[in-house]
Amino acid sequence: MGIRLRSARLFDAATQLIPGGVNSPARAWARVGGNPLFIERGLGPKIWDVDGNEYIDYVCSWGALILGHCHPGVVAAAESAMRRGSSFGAPTSIENEAAQLVVESVPSVEMVRFVNSGTEAAMSAIRLARAATGRDLVLKFDGGYHGHDDALLVKAGSGVASFGIADSAGINSKLASDTLVAPYNDTGYVRRVFAAHPEQIACVIVEPVAGNMGVVPGNSEWLATLRELTSADGALLIFDEVISGFRVGASGAQDVYGMNPDITCLGKVIGGGYPVGAYGASAELMQHVAPLGDMYQAGTLSGNPVAMAAGVATMREMIGDKQYEALAAKTALLAVGITDAVARTGAECVINHVVGMLTLFFTPGQVTDMATASAADHGKFTAFFHAMLESGIYIPPSPYEAWFVSTAHSEADIEHTVAAVERALRAAG
Ligand code: PLP
Repeated sequence: MGIRLRSARLFDAATQLIPGGVNSPARAWARVGGNPLFIERGLGPKIWDVDGNEYIDYVCSWGALILGHCHPGVVAAAESAMRRGSSFGAPTSIENEAAQLVVESVPSVEMVRFVNSGTEAAMSAIRLARAATGRDLVLKFDGGYHGHDDALLVKAGSGVASFGIADSAGINSKLASDTLVAPYNDTGYVRRVFAAHPEQIACVIVEPVAGNMGVVPGNSEWLATLRELTSADGALLIFDEVISGFRVGASGAQDVYGMNPDITCLGKVIGGGYPVGAYGASAELMQHVAPLGDMYQAGTLSGNPVAMAAGVATMREMIGDKQYEALAAKTALLAVGITDAVARTGAECVINHVVGMLTLFFTPGQVTDMATASAADHGKFTAFFHAMLESGIYIPPSPYEAWFVSTAHSEADIEHTVAAVERALRAAG
């Protein structure tokens, strides 16, 4: 791999202008050391940095780019929308198309409101739950990230965990004290929380497949318990599918688990690489949202036509079984290849994967929650990360993140990656 002098210079300049040189902390290499790469362009499964180095990309804009970089259909849709005008602050027909695709794909969603980020989606979903129930308490899970809203930035997984920040400073403590936290995948604990706070909890918010402590699939019995407890208590169940929505399948993890959450948060894939989030629910619940109801939520650029066009092109390309079957097969190929490499090298690692997402944890034990994810050897991850980079493979710069596979990754890319993993495991020792 070549030198990365230009990236280093740009990063130096960025640190004078932007806190930590990055516009989102997950992009900094605080956990692994060194300068982040400055990216010049991407195509399909690959990216090139400003020094001309080529990498197979498993960040894929943190899961947004399920079709890979610069998919021709997405580029054409966004370009054509942009030529008609970038934003009007008035309704456009592409918003109907996007909403129709979401409503048809996600059975628990009858109406949807588009916003500009996953943070806004989760924040608004919580507000809706509070508006509908008249209650304040929110239950989330350790290691679950739902964006950087005050009420949700408690034990919030990847980003904060990567920096060793327990809970963010600057949070309104009165708001945060309404947030209860339970361990992920622990049925007994959540039963005790509901027993201790009867008819006080507005909602439970959960990533049904966690992606922010690395990939940790929810246990189906535990998820069913969340449904049972919320229904019995009059609380609402929010599935944060900002990562899993349109990634594990067009109907999200709720379809994979056969579950029916009250509110669903979406983001990432539905924007095709543009800033889009969404929250949706039954038509009855969505009556609370202004201008129908008295729960206010708004956005100058919400439903932006260029972003909607990219999202619609992406969703249309993904809907149907074919793409997801192929993505599942590719992810499985990668997981099996890495498992074999782990066995050959004698490394102490486990691999969690679902469709289009994978994490290699440097720990011999099963990873089922934040405590077991945190038991991983971060020193080994750091050595592994840099060795992968030297082989031209760009994985997330944190042990608490998911690697994202796109439909553009070829079998040859996967084989190349597996060979690099074996070398990197040996380098990491
Ligand atoms: N919810 C989940 C599950 C996420 O993974 C993220 C971001 O990674 C968010 C919410 C916040 O989304 P955004 O970064 O678009 O604000």
